Amino acid sequence: RTVYVNGEYLPETEAKVSIFDRGFVMGDAVYEVTAVVGGKLLDFAGHEARLARSLNEIEIENPFAEGELLAIHRELLAKNELVDGGIYLQVTRGNPGDRDFVFPDPAVVKPTVVLYTQLKPGVLQSPTGINGIRVISVPEMRWHRRDIKTVQLLYPSMAKMMAKKAGVDDAWFVEDGFVTEGSSNNTYIVKDGAIITRPLSQDLLHGITRAALLRYANEAQIKIIERPFTIAEAQAADEAFLTSASAFVTPVIEVDGAAIGAGTPGPIAKRLREIYIDEALKAGI
Ligand code: PLP
Repeated sequence: RTVYVNGEYLPETEAKVSIFDRGFVMGDAVYEVTAVVGGKLLDFAGHEARLARSLNEIEIENPFAEGELLAIHRELLAKNELVDGGIYLQVTRGNPGDRDFVFPDPAVVKPTVVLYTQLKPGVLQSPTGINGIRVISVPEMRWHRRDIKTVQLLYPSMAKMMAKKAGVDDAWFVEDGFVTEGSSNNTYIVKDGAIITRPLSQDLLHGITRAALLRYANEAQIKIIERPFTIAEAQAADEAFLTSASAFVTPVIEVDGAAIGAGTPGPIAKRLREIYIDEALKAGI
């Protein structure tokens, strides 16, 4: 692969970041993942806007000039001839030259910027996206600013491992009896034709796919209720699904061993997957 590091396009084997980089030492970094389907970037403007917000929340100066981020994405797509997959992007607070809890002076230490492509041929036909996935619930143990897309992903990784050991695909976090979100996605249930999903707050990531999907669902006159839901409600729901840039809309067919609805992808989840993919591709750039 050709990757991007601090203004340069390099073979991945030549790309380097300092051992003192705060992204490495302190997890002091934010990231984005933008899906690429048929050579098009999906929801790019949303990811660009959320990156700006995440950077602002942790007081890292946005290193990108107007239009620069899109230009880098396009250049990486072209250099790697990427058709289906995604672009991963990470901005860290940079390399202060030693380990120190105090933020370095932003006039002296500039952010580290890394972007690379990820190849996923035939991404729209993934078996999980079509057949649905099974999840377990795990206690919510992340920090309380989940609206900031930081690279501090140790607990989500542990949750994925708990799911793997339990023989299922993913984990849903539960806090005070209610689902916050999935390990790397936003979560939904469907009851009596209405979509139920947790409202935005600092408790969960403000998914770009979530925002687009709710817009499309609204246009399709599907009722949306933004409120938290429990695992018991999910188990008694007609359907469930999740959204993310990597998974688009993916049906969820089982929670904690209990089948949801018929235990197969539900009609609304399937319809929303089609609508999302159609509309996001149409709007893709
Ligand atoms: N929630 C979490 C914790 C995530 O990590 C992600 C994506 O990585 C999402 C939700 C979905 O966000 P998006 O639709 O912007 O990919």
